[in-house]
Amino acid sequence: MTKSTKPLMLVLSSPSGAGKTTLSKKIQQSDNSFEISVSHTTRNPRPNEVDGVDYHFVTKKNFLKLLDEGLFYEHAKIFGNFYGTSKSSIKKITDNKHNVLFDIDWQGSEQLSKFKELNLVKVFILPPSKEELEKRLIARNQDDKEAIKRRMLAYSKDIAHKKDYDYVLINDNVENCFNELKKIVSKHLKNN
Ligand code: 5GP
Repeated sequence: MTKSTKPLMLVLSSPSGAGKTTLSKKIQQSDNSFEISVSHTTRNPRPNEVDGVDYHFVTKKNFLKLLDEGLFYEHAKIFGNFYGTSKSSIKKITDNKHNVLFDIDWQGSEQLSKFKELNLVKVFILPPSKEELEKRLIARNQDDKEAIKRRMLAYSKDIAHKKDYDYVLINDNVENCFNELKKIVSKHLKNN
């Protein structure tokens, strides 16, 4: 963290497939004051995903136990699976005097907003169009047809929440979008 007293909490949300994970990784690579918050999830790991790196993969029983014990800042059920940000993973990042980058949905963003003491900057990433999003989901070959259909059905509901964010960016071209995001980040780091 530069001269900030409070860590910056950068929230990136988007309909799935809009490029938010790529953008999160690019922010982290370009500015090592940022650490990505590793969420807990009950969904199964994808072939390239590593436990403890991409997510903490847990059973539903374990997730509900952690939830019951009040150990999450926020959580949501998305496409039938639970996702949540544990208080301990954020504490680890802030204890290291690092800024936090959240890759979470609108439900999580809404819950984090209730913690007024957090230095949140919320950015919503949009794909250029619904058609383009569908093309990307098919091209990334990560989901079966049913999952793509579910993600596309969630699209309109997801984007209705863009009004609750500080910034809305269109990811037409990943480098341009990344540059816009970097400008937002440096502005907030400077004012911090
Ligand atoms: P995926 O299963 O594709 O990795 O993620 C599905 C959605 O869950 C994405 O929109 C992602 O941002 C969101 N997500 C991931 N982790 C969390 C979390 O801890 N909390 C919330 N609310 N959403 C999350």
